[in-house]
Amino acid sequence: MDNKIIKLAQNLCANYSLVGPTDVRNWCWPRDKICRFFNKEPERCGYFERAVMPTDEEVKQEYIKYFTGEVVGINRRKCECGNMFIPKSNRQQYCEICGKIRKRQKNKERKYKQRNK
Ligand SMILES: [Zn+2]
Repeated sequence: MDNKIIKLAQNLCANYSLVGPTDVRNWCWPRDKICRFFNKEPERCGYFERAVMPTDEEVKQEYIKYFTGEVVGINRRKCECGNMFIPKSNRQQYCEICGKIRKRQKNKERKYKQRNK
């Protein structure tokens, strides 16, 4: 499960507790069980969907993707490396990591060409 989702649950979910009774970690108080997200197979959580998720659009997208396998929203793109990203401009074609790598490669090429003139 995406770390962003976990983080948001840990920070904002009113039902969540880092340490529960008998020192069990990642406790969900109303259910008196480990938080659904920390099951071996994470499950959907109605409370999270209603009360926590709407505060963060990016987490919402990740959450939906995780449980449905679908990518929703028109503002997301798939990079050639397979990463989904939210482009900062219309021209951005690569995720942040690939963008940086490509930039570096281009700089190298430019230097190489200059040296060989
Ligand atoms: Zn990429």
